[in-house]
Amino acid sequence: VLSPLRRRIVGTTMRAGELSRSDLARRLSLSRSSVSPEISDLLAMGVLVADRHSPSTGGRRGALIAPAGPGVAVLAGVDIDADRVSVALTALDGTVLASDTLEMDAAADPAIALRGAAEMIERDLAPAAGPLQALGISIAADVDPVTGRPVSAPTMPRWADWPVCDFFAERFGVRAFIDNDVNVLALAEAAHPHTGPGLGPSFIVMKISRGLGCGIVVDGKVFRGSAGFAGDLGHICADQHDRTLCACGNRGCLEVLAGEPAILTEADALADEGRSPILAALREQHDGVLTLDLVGAASAAGDAAVGSLLRDVGKHIGFVLAGVVSFFNPSAVLVSSGLGGGEDILLNGIRELVYQRALPFSTRGLQVMRSHFHRDGGAVSAAVLAAEGWLGMAGTVAERRALVSRTSRSSVVTDGTGP
Ligand SMILES: [Zn+2]
Repeated sequence: VLSPLRRRIVGTTMRAGELSRSDLARRLSLSRSSVSPEISDLLAMGVLVADRHSPSTGGRRGALIAPAGPGVAVLAGVDIDADRVSVALTALDGTVLASDTLEMDAAADPAIALRGAAEMIERDLAPAAGPLQALGISIAADVDPVTGRPVSAPTMPRWADWPVCDFFAERFGVRAFIDNDVNVLALAEAAHPHTGPGLGPSFIVMKISRGLGCGIVVDGKVFRGSAGFAGDLGHICADQHDRTLCACGNRGCLEVLAGEPAILTEADALADEGRSPILAALREQHDGVLTLDLVGAASAAGDAAVGSLLRDVGKHIGFVLAGVVSFFNPSAVLVSSGLGGGEDILLNGIRELVYQRALPFSTRGLQVMRSHFHRDGGAVSAAVLAAEGWLGMAGTVAERRALVSRTSRSSVVTDGTGP
């Protein structure tokens, strides 16, 4: 068990990727002399390594400190989506040691999905060479900030109040942390060595899957709103005149115009009507079922009809995001989808409407770009949640505990270990 200072040292190093001793001390607002002995101990323990690129210079004063690679500690991430469960095991330095996906109707059967995830982790742990330290869960549903359990989501109603954290904490004997999938993505982006510092402290991450949600980072921390449900972009009205009924009961929601089911319905129509022979051929090769992957592949192959579809989807999203950008003034909008090569056209559609409609001051310096974590990266981002939770960096647990003490409830299971 690491002391709070050592956890801050490891966590700060993980977020930076690599740091000199003096940079590390500066970031922690501590003197070099108070940090140095702790670093030496962490180096001796193998939790940190010095100069991984040129080990011969090892412990000397100018050496760069980095988190340890495989063999020291293992973090597990579980991503639960309506139609699949994925797991990933990572080392402290972010190396992915193993990953696995189970395609199944996870929305319909929480018990089978959880068992499947646990079995994949058990199978992958043996060759992962290192003790499991913590587990993070990313789920495509809102999570009650007090109980730590999913609340009823239109796409995953059966998961409501399921003790997901307890299940994994008991099965693996480690602390487990859970959050809504887009909040986990936002946290992972904020902690990503290549994103965090470059993007500035306030940005948003949007995920396109069966639903359409948004994680919000304010001043480097995930913002969840007063009751934990901020960022529900999918149910903002994108077209007042659209009569399509949304699962939430409203009409004209962004989700019914730009969510995965909407994209796939349009794509099927393109294939059916002969407007996209590439898509029709891809569908034929994949048992007659289109996925976002295939739509993205058709677009990347230069299919004009699919490109036009994705641009229109991007414009619907951009219409809503323009309001968000004017209101919130983020430094970036990061988009995560399963579209692969088709994502660029979608991003162009988003940019077009955002720049057209948002106020010029709010778009100055704004970046609209891909997330580092695509659909397959959900489990890896959940492993980041595990790391941040384990190191006490996430704010997730601390914030929730603060919320709990304010509401003075006693049944807290946010991290699987109780209050
Ligand atoms: Zn809706």
